[in-house]
Amino acid sequence: MARYAGIEGGGTKFVVAFGSGPDDLGDPIVYPTTTPAETLGRAIAEIRDAGPVDAIGIASFGPLDLRAGSEAHGHIAETPKPGWSGADVTGAFREAFDVPVGFDTDVNGAALGEQRWGAAAGLATFVYLTVGTGIGGGGLVRSKPMRGLSHPEMGHIRVPRRPGDAFEGTCPFHGDCLEGMAAGPAIEARWGKRGEHLGTDTEAAVELEAWYLGTALATLALAVSPQRMVLGGGVMKLPGLLEAIRLVFLERLGGYLPYEEVLDAGSFVVPAGLGDRAGVLGAIALAGEAASAAR
Ligand code: ZN
Repeated sequence: MARYAGIEGGGTKFVVAFGSGPDDLGDPIVYPTTTPAETLGRAIAEIRDAGPVDAIGIASFGPLDLRAGSEAHGHIAETPKPGWSGADVTGAFREAFDVPVGFDTDVNGAALGEQRWGAAAGLATFVYLTVGTGIGGGGLVRSKPMRGLSHPEMGHIRVPRRPGDAFEGTCPFHGDCLEGMAAGPAIEARWGKRGEHLGTDTEAAVELEAWYLGTALATLALAVSPQRMVLGGGVMKLPGLLEAIRLVFLERLGGYLPYEEVLDAGSFVVPAGLGDRAGVLGAIALAGEAASAAR
């Protein structure tokens, strides 16, 4: 059986694990994200220590340059994260190892993992949205991770403001885009505490979150024509949020997409199936994709 190295590159931590899928995934190695040289160097050292692999998959935080033929392909694009703008993520691995290297956003990687082993098993076209420190959206179209000019940035679409909501939003680029209004930092800024400590404010927070996320999902369903929409990320752990999103989603569609798959929102808007391993399994899936492409 093939043995892959999967690297989940996050803004705060990196995760490295070995295997070919959920059944044989080894214990993940987790360490903090510091400078690009130190962080990527550690991943290379872990792979060397672990012995030969057939391919490497990297699912990275973004934004990334994924433009075909770009000289900066595989580099981090401009990011507020100090030291990482322009960092060449794939180059060091290609230099160090003579195996195929798969690379995509953490979101597209997680989507690929969900299609192989999780909540989107067997589906060719679906949207994956993760709601945590930021909001990332991607998915697969005809079984290929969504890539075009570069990669989707669904977290930064505009959503109409909920009437009466005067919150300015936290996105440094847009203020009140979807991420600015509904990601974890927006919850913290609105209530002065993190989602898991909301207590009696939970219900009000869920209502607001559902307004923005349900509205965004309806927009994405209309734009992409997905067969399902999968939601992951820490904010989705808020009790009752998924159910509330489904209601807003159907309301926003206003009778459009009148198909039984959509009307049964319980099977159309679903939670991610791979839980905390979604990221690193996504990276393993990207390695598998790179290995097949090289054959
Ligand atoms: Zn934004």
